[in-house]
Amino acid sequence: MSAPILVWFRNDLRLTDHPALHQAEKKGVPVICLYVFDDEASGLWSMGTASRWWLHHSLIALRTDLRQLGSDLILRSGNTTEILIDIAVQTRVEEIYCSKQFEPRASAIERGLRQSLENKNITLHCFPGQLLHSPERLCTKIRKPYKVYTPFWRALTAAEIRTPKPAPTKLLMPEISLKSETVEDWNLLSNVSDWTEKLYEIWKPGEKSARQRLKAFIENSAATYHLDRDQPRQPNAVPGTSKLSPHLHFGEISPAECWHAASLKVVQNLAESKGLETFRKELAWRDFSYHLLHHTPSLPTQPFREQFVNFPWRAQSEIRDVQLKAWQNGNTGYPIVDAGMRELRTTGWMHNRVRMVVASFLTKHLLIPWQLGQAWFWDHLVDADLASNTAGWQWVSGCGADAAPYFRIFNPITQGQKFDPNGEYVRFWVPEIRIVPNKFIHTPWLCPEDILNVHEVKIGSTYPKPIVDHKQARIEALNAYKKIKSISH
Ligand code: FAD
Repeated sequence: MSAPILVWFRNDLRLTDHPALHQAEKKGVPVICLYVFDDEASGLWSMGTASRWWLHHSLIALRTDLRQLGSDLILRSGNTTEILIDIAVQTRVEEIYCSKQFEPRASAIERGLRQSLENKNITLHCFPGQLLHSPERLCTKIRKPYKVYTPFWRALTAAEIRTPKPAPTKLLMPEISLKSETVEDWNLLSNVSDWTEKLYEIWKPGEKSARQRLKAFIENSAATYHLDRDQPRQPNAVPGTSKLSPHLHFGEISPAECWHAASLKVVQNLAESKGLETFRKELAWRDFSYHLLHHTPSLPTQPFREQFVNFPWRAQSEIRDVQLKAWQNGNTGYPIVDAGMRELRTTGWMHNRVRMVVASFLTKHLLIPWQLGQAWFWDHLVDADLASNTAGWQWVSGCGADAAPYFRIFNPITQGQKFDPNGEYVRFWVPEIRIVPNKFIHTPWLCPEDILNVHEVKIGSTYPKPIVDHKQARIEALNAYKKIKSISH
């Protein structure tokens, strides 16, 4: 029998549009499907609680799907290179196939593996699939990486995007049977607390669910995406966005498939093209974040704009700790901020507009370093993604490539009034102020006491007073910014 191919699954936990798996099937030889949980290699960016929850369930879903094709998923934990070589030698594999991944640690693992395979007569083949385009392929006219989104978008759309590959219909099993750990052995749910219990009600990890979500989005929301995407909604309402981010992060669906699902519709119905075009632009932001991270691997800890290294963040103190806790728990007294932070804690996800508002509040109103917000998101988001999370935090705090200028300080009151005008989102997540009339829903401290008294709402007791004054905080943030501006000139 021919030598089997080892398909090494990473953040590509799907069967459809999986170029590595597709190629392995085409070869007509037995295929070994393997996932390695190499927690130690992730270092500082070891998966957060919500991501672990997702991974646990996603692997179970992938294993089920593979079994339906007559195959299986072998699970191993430990050093990736050692495990891959061990299995390859044991099963006389000559080729390892995987999807190329672009986070710095993933690239380092790939490089290390390639080196270790030299002289072993085993070849590593990396296939596309994680992104619309490889970050190495897109570059400016002078062959430099992009730093600004709009020209990046132009270059991305000028190059052709891969047509998705079909899922395999059958996979041959190798003759030798391999031992597998179980996903339960990895204790990915060990940090589960009350808040992760809620995740079961809201999410269903796995490729099938990802595809259903894409279909529902294209049918129900895509045409009006450009109009609705900025409005946060309560969990039981039809979302204005796709909520595909965790599925995309774990590779349960490919960005190329999402892209083509959107493009196809454009051809059929021109009236809907604006929504679909906007959706594709957001998919491209994901690629842009990876492009930045790939070319500047220090980004997760260091600001892209160097002068921000000297930014006078508030030093650690008791008051800063109290304010950070208030932000984390959704008790700042600003309803839109609190709604977002509670949405995150409960569902593992937060609407993009609100992510921007809460990130701006932490870094500008409270002058707390963006890295602390990034870390909280990392632990709590089901879509926690090193590239997008880092780019998002650096964009909001003004220190990233193509970032919002530091002096653009989101006003949590007007942002709430503009994007949640009837307060439906806020009322869902901050029930303490449910009875406050629309006029005051984003400024409950201004609501006349006689209205509040009827419903026994007491600002400062049943719901907090604002922990900082918006106008004062804005002045302090601008003053802090002036200090680094003067340093950089
Ligand atoms: P949709 O609006 O339906 O967009 C479709 C897809 O495009 C998303 O699933 C996502 O993959 C991609 N996308 C959309 N907006 C962005 C963006 N601004 N940057 C990069 N990709 C984007 N996204 C993550 O996937 N993981 C993160 O850890 C993450 N952290 C963020 C932190 C901050 C402070 C901010 C401001 C943004 C962050 N984002 C992150 C980006 C964005 O908020 C989410 O991708 C989006 O809210 C996911 O919801 P959706 O799937 O409904 O998006």
